[in-house]
Amino acid sequence: MLSIKAKGISSSPTLTIDAKFKEMKANGEDVVGFGCGEPDFDTPQHIKDAAIAAINKGMTKYTPAAGTLELRKAVAKKFKEENGLDYAPGDIVVSNGAKHSLVNAFMAILNPGDEVIIPAPFWVSYPEMVKLADGVPVIANATEEQNFKVTISDLQKVLSPKTKAIVMNSPSNPTGMVYTKDELKQIADFAVSNNLFVVSDEIYEHLIYEGEHVSIASFNEEIKKRTIVINGVSKTYAMTGWRIGYAAAAPEIAKIMANIQSHASSNPNSIAQAAAVAALTGPTDEIERMRRHFMKRRNYMVEAINEIDGVSCLNPHGAFYIMMSIKELIGKTMYGKVINNADDFADLFLEKEKVALVPGTGFGAPEYVRWSYATSMDTIVEGIQRLRNFLEHK
Ligand code: PMP
Ligand code: GLU
Repeated sequence: MLSIKAKGISSSPTLTIDAKFKEMKANGEDVVGFGCGEPDFDTPQHIKDAAIAAINKGMTKYTPAAGTLELRKAVAKKFKEENGLDYAPGDIVVSNGAKHSLVNAFMAILNPGDEVIIPAPFWVSYPEMVKLADGVPVIANATEEQNFKVTISDLQKVLSPKTKAIVMNSPSNPTGMVYTKDELKQIADFAVSNNLFVVSDEIYEHLIYEGEHVSIASFNEEIKKRTIVINGVSKTYAMTGWRIGYAAAAPEIAKIMANIQSHASSNPNSIAQAAAVAALTGPTDEIERMRRHFMKRRNYMVEAINEIDGVSCLNPHGAFYIMMSIKELIGKTMYGKVINNADDFADLFLEKEKVALVPGTGFGAPEYVRWSYATSMDTIVEGIQRLRNFLEHK
């Protein structure tokens, strides 16, 4: 008899689509992929050089489980300078990607049956992570009309005596929406007055095209001590494969997270940690260059999608995703098949035009499909052309 809890955890739909795309490509199929949110750029050279130097210097041993002091100091400096947050190195835990940091965070704060409010559309992994930590995900819906952002009244509706925490993710995967300072302040006040933790995933902080990033932890001491800030190097520095993420929290929470990690995985890769120091402390011109490319791609896609009949999208202000509404197509027959939801649309689009998108179902948004524009402009132009063909010839 296997674990009932474990059997209730689904596989990651983003990674599943990516695997399917790569398999089709390896089989020689003319497929174009917009599935996985992974920058197409290479890791900047100075970061790679730091990793090579670390190997040559013999930095190939275990480090403290929560990460090297050097990296935790660099992270603390980043929080101070970019977010106005004061953390000591002991408040920081470096993990094997922000995914791992999030799992540690939920494990550290949840007791069985504790509810965690997750605003929808949400990134696919949050509900599964909460379940892994014996919590209960509770979804607060944010509609397209409200720019996919939850309001206090949405949160109020799902608040219960069992609510323990709220997940915030601004800029958001999958919607690309960025909460304003005022909106975040209201949510911070709501969390404080209801004695809730906030798990704030800020991994897309540097990928903003309009507006500014504010860390919800930065308003006052009350919200700071109940927020676990999650971040990492995957997206900003094109370092998805290096697997370095980090969390900052009140010392008692950070200690528990570090203890859990000390048994589950020990330290994250020592060489990748040295590379992450170079990423956080090095020049930023490459980061800005990548951001500008993403912005150009976004501008092209948003305009093109909104010119095509049957589909539409908002203009996302951050991250590298577009949620495309397929509401108008639901219930219609395309190529002899009824489109009941985003899964039907995504399956048919992949079959007919060989374009891989992620259906919104896994994001709690079954009338949308997600495009990731972390891919070349040529691929984007091709993907949009295939969308036109697909919808014209239905
Ligand atoms: N949070 C969000 C919102 C993400 O999109 C991702 C991307 N996988 C992660 C966390 C995890 O990133 P990583 O584990 O590569 O640091
Ligand atoms: N976060 C990215 C995405 O949403 C990468 C895949 C994953 O880790 O889920 O596509």
